[in-house]
Amino acid sequence: MKTVPKWKLIYSFSPRHKPAEYVKPGERVRLELEDAFGGQVKNESMPLEKLDWTKVNGATGPIFIEGAKRGDTLIVRVEEIKVADKGVIAVVPKQGALRDKPFKARIKVVPISGEYAMFEKGVKVKIRPMIGTIGVAPEFDEIPTGSLGKHGGNMDVKDVTCGAILYLPVFVDGALFAAGDLHAIQADGEACVSAVEVSGELTLSFEVLKGKSVPWPVLENEESYAILVCGDSLDEACSLAVDEAVKALMREHNWSFEEAYMFASLVVDLRINQVVDPKKGVRAVIPKEFVSLKGLCGKFQDCINFEAF
Ligand code: CA
Repeated sequence: MKTVPKWKLIYSFSPRHKPAEYVKPGERVRLELEDAFGGQVKNESMPLEKLDWTKVNGATGPIFIEGAKRGDTLIVRVEEIKVADKGVIAVVPKQGALRDKPFKARIKVVPISGEYAMFEKGVKVKIRPMIGTIGVAPEFDEIPTGSLGKHGGNMDVKDVTCGAILYLPVFVDGALFAAGDLHAIQADGEACVSAVEVSGELTLSFEVLKGKSVPWPVLENEESYAILVCGDSLDEACSLAVDEAVKALMREHNWSFEEAYMFASLVVDLRINQVVDPKKGVRAVIPKEFVSLKGLCGKFQDCINFEAF
């Protein structure tokens, strides 16, 4: 199996980056991932001001997927996620959901033993390793790996975990896929701005859905499809999520707007991805019995028609 080492890092999703590796559809590939702090935090006494902020939020890649062309959809299967035996969580003044409150910077090293993260003596939490940053190159822009959008990026969706399948719009030949920002465990919202940030290893495989386009990234798990959107506020993200879910139901069932809007109120769950990144993320979760790729795929034009970041 090909391995992309963790020093093959990018700090932006860009159509101009040179591929770190080339893979074929169906081929499995291993990615080594540094943690979101770039491996700089070695202990709890390290002052956060000492961090080189140009070396955070890196992603391993980019990977050129042969046969992926502009207007296709890249299908990413998360086959395995391995995490290191310790992670790091930090609170940073002026960051997170409580950014307006006064508080001090603090780092905590979190040992990981078997299936558990040891937060404190006597307080452990079962891990659920997930990929925070995962995406492809946008059409023209260079989007920092710390940001997010239709290309994916720093989406911090807790369900991007082992067994999940992610659909991403392809903007440039080869897609130029990259992933980083592994979390041992994170809740919806990512309240304090970080999770248990950890280094590790992914095994992924890719397929290409030719000539079909998802307008936003879509996450598939056993029971549902989730459309992953973001906006400048949670309100905006919620409106966009409902809009995309309604469009998907209209395409799936040949319904009018009104019918699909009513039905969305019955079966589409809105869930918060995160409230702490440059854009706020929400997912519209639709049970599989009511939608398929037929409804989830739209026109490529819907995909490229969005403002630059
Ligand atoms: Ca993140």
